[in-house]
Amino acid sequence: MRRCSACAVDIEGAWTRCPLCAGPVAGDATRSPLPAVPLVYSRRRVLRVLFLTSLAVILVSFAVQLLFRRELDGIGVLRSVWLGVSAMWLVVLMAVRKRRNVAKGTVYLVVLVGLVCVYWDYLTGWRGWSLSYAVPIVCASSIVALLITVRVMRTEVGEHIVYSGLTVLLGLAPIVFLLLGWVTNPLPSVICGALSIVALALLQLAGGSYVRHELAKRLHL
Ligand SMILES: [Zn+2]
Repeated sequence: MRRCSACAVDIEGAWTRCPLCAGPVAGDATRSPLPAVPLVYSRRRVLRVLFLTSLAVILVSFAVQLLFRRELDGIGVLRSVWLGVSAMWLVVLMAVRKRRNVAKGTVYLVVLVGLVCVYWDYLTGWRGWSLSYAVPIVCASSIVALLITVRVMRTEVGEHIVYSGLTVLLGLAPIVFLLLGWVTNPLPSVICGALSIVALALLQLAGGSYVRHELAKRLHL
């Protein structure tokens, strides 16, 4: 068992500093007497929300294709919707399993899917569907996934800041492609940008006071 000589106490667990005086401790670490606290969420609720959202995304995509049939590149849109639904599931499941690395994982996922789609588009005779449809849809799905995560899981204070930053990043990427003139149809990029603004507002509502408190603390305001 570890021991703090200054406080003359024995310390259970693997503390590297004394929990009372923060001074150095000597001796071997023992097993922590406190139970490991599991993540609080209902698996059934996560799956139900994911399933219903996927269904809604697919139905909306069918409705959009019916309304804008002539303007849309059908194959590109269809491929992109399935990519989007898969990305949404992956991001939420990532959040459930390894919540610490959600932001990094989401960025890797979006970049990887984007690159694969651009290459696929290039191989099948560049029609621009990857940047016009796939990237905005995958970005928008990831934003929806972050909202689902915040809604169904008890998120910590710092996570709201990370999720807000990620939402800005995901909303901005398709807008940059749009401004560079790389997209054939501006609508998906614009919708993704608008969605990120709505998501930001919802994130602020969900944890706004905590975020302000945390920012004020970190920036010494
Ligand atoms: Zn001590």
